[in-house]
Amino acid sequence: MRLDKMLANMGYGTRKEVKKLLKTGVVRVDEEITKDPKQHVDPEGNHVTVHEETVEYREFIYLMMNKPGGVISATEDEDETVIDLLIPEDQVFEPFPVGRLDKDTEGLLVITNDGKLAHHLTSPKHHVPKTYYARISGHVTEDDVQAFQKGVTLDDGYVTKPGELTILDANDQSEIELTIHEGKFHQVKRMFEAVDKKVTYLQRIQMGDLHLDRDLEPGEYRELTEEEVNLLQ
Ligand code: URA
Repeated sequence: MRLDKMLANMGYGTRKEVKKLLKTGVVRVDEEITKDPKQHVDPEGNHVTVHEETVEYREFIYLMMNKPGGVISATEDEDETVIDLLIPEDQVFEPFPVGRLDKDTEGLLVITNDGKLAHHLTSPKHHVPKTYYARISGHVTEDDVQAFQKGVTLDDGYVTKPGELTILDANDQSEIELTIHEGKFHQVKRMFEAVDKKVTYLQRIQMGDLHLDRDLEPGEYRELTEEEVNLLQ
């Protein structure tokens, strides 16, 4: 990999800024000062320092965000996106959200630049389960649990795969948890519409074996631990 690309990827600025940095003679590769942005380096094998500090190279970044309402889960949009909420040092990795949550949905969102992992998590082939907590306008009953278990017909005629509905509080404003194994557009909201009820608040709390970290306030994020990344593979 080119030295300027490596340093730019690690947050030392744009390629142009890195070129300027190199000119000042503060970058060394295996102890030798180098000013050549095109110099080829092996991030695993060569020892690169800037101002005598080792540059720890890594290719991938894995983040867990508690997505707040009102923000778009996309990389670019005219409205604020989840990527806009990241600090510049994380944005340089060019990460993207894995799958989509509606603008008003909160909760667990994985953000990474690892395309392979993202594909694994979102591919319909893998049926990675996703669990949501929701508040529902309407009294959720055992009939709804059975209906979701069998599959309900959405407004476009699609019949959903079995979903596991747990009633936490049955009331005029019910609280539930729902696990689904697919990801159709607005799926949870449309499943409740299919049984004449309305989702008034939606939060994703789990994806595969990965749980939302309850210490994260909406809008906050942190890196996944190695163990958590392994849970997702
Ligand atoms: N289902 C929905 O209806 N919305 C989401 O954001 C996620 C699942």
